[in-house]
Amino acid sequence: MNKKLDFYCDEVLSGRFPIKKVVETENCLAFNHTKPGWSVHIVIIPKTHIESLTDLQNLDLVKELFQIVTDIVKTKELFKTNYKIITNGGSFQESKHLHFHLVSGEPLGKANIMV
Ligand SMILES: [Zn+2]
Repeated sequence: MNKKLDFYCDEVLSGRFPIKKVVETENCLAFNHTKPGWSVHIVIIPKTHIESLTDLQNLDLVKELFQIVTDIVKTKELFKTNYKIITNGGSFQESKHLHFHLVSGEPLGKANIMV
């Protein structure tokens, strides 16, 4: 079987890979990127497996994900400097589990936003 790479189910949500949590809710998890490309680089994921943005049908989950993003932007006062949200799809998406990158500050060398 040709299993798709899913770092988030296989390593993060399973607890095998240690992460530093930023926010955790019933259905979502936000944590510091394990290989940050920016001085602030947080990944936000749903805890249930959703492959990509086009598979995100649950509007309550959409709301929860973006509420977390908004809360982090406010709590860390990223709106005072800069921030952006990225999600990758198609061939840009390395790990086939929906995730959003919230980045701010300065790029750290060659920004790696693929995972
Ligand atoms: Zn998954």
